[in-house]
Amino acid sequence: MDIRNKKMVLISHCLCNTNSKVAGFSPKTACEDNLLNLVFSKGYGIIQLPCPENRVYGNRRWGQSREQFDNPHFRSQCKNMLLPFIQEIEDYLKNGYDIAAVISVYGSPSCGYTASYSNSSYGGELCINTIQMQVDSSGIEHSPGIFMNEFKKLMEENGINIPFVDFVEENPLESMEIISKFLEKKEV
Ligand code: SF4
Repeated sequence: MDIRNKKMVLISHCLCNTNSKVAGFSPKTACEDNLLNLVFSKGYGIIQLPCPENRVYGNRRWGQSREQFDNPHFRSQCKNMLLPFIQEIEDYLKNGYDIAAVISVYGSPSCGYTASYSNSSYGGELCINTIQMQVDSSGIEHSPGIFMNEFKKLMEENGINIPFVDFVEENPLESMEIISKFLEKKEV
């Protein structure tokens, strides 16, 4: 018996595993369970993307701005991580699967899509007070974080068209409503 429905979403790593986040920035104990329940209840399987920051800088890294991550090494590492996913996606699509969306993380300098944390003068955190000061003086840039930027570019290069939709951790209910409508549109 095989009753698969061939529906999937791609999802940012920390939405399934908040342990990958920078210390002090996890809004949930383990995962965005309500979001995951929503996705599963709509009949979608998930492909969890890697956490680029955790892989490159480790779990004891500090929070950085988009401008700090925007360097050739990090971009090439993101690309290397994403290439196997591009191949996997190509194969699924070729075999009639529907990948409805990439669920990204609003505001992340790596995994945001519509916006990413930006601060052109920020160099790092020296103490708790400095973190607060820097966060207060930070901005949001309305462009993708570095990882999603590389993902989008690779998709375009390979003729893949999957829409991105941000999950806003500060506004989960509204966010889930948007994602829900998005998945309903794709329901078959
Ligand atoms: S937003 Fe991306 S880089 Fe940041 S913790 Fe989540 S998966 Fe890692």
